Amino acid sequence: MRIQRGSPIGSCAVGGWQDAEALAYAELLYEWHLRHGRQWPQSQCAGCGELIADHRALTLTDGNQVHFESIDCVLLYGDSWRAAAAAALHRLGLDPPPGITR
Ligand SMILES: [Zn+2]
Repeated sequence: MRIQRGSPIGSCAVGGWQDAEALAYAELLYEWHLRHGRQWPQSQCAGCGELIADHRALTLTDGNQVHFESIDCVLLYGDSWRAAAAAALHRLGLDPPPGITR
């Protein structure tokens, strides 16, 4: 069975078809990242690239670490891995749904 836009079964109780597309694309990005994303050395921050050294680190679900003291590192890393995943998916012909940048 194929679910098409506008069909009652395609409606999402939370936010509709566009939200479902956005969630599916976000899941696709994350799956690509988990399978193919860069693994940083445990001694290095995946956000800013500097050594963790004596700083506190936050270990992320993908196993990489970022500096804990600054929110910038985790934000930089999030932007970075999503951009890499989006570029790889684009090369495969998979682009984000309309209105979604990443
Ligand atoms: Zn950092």
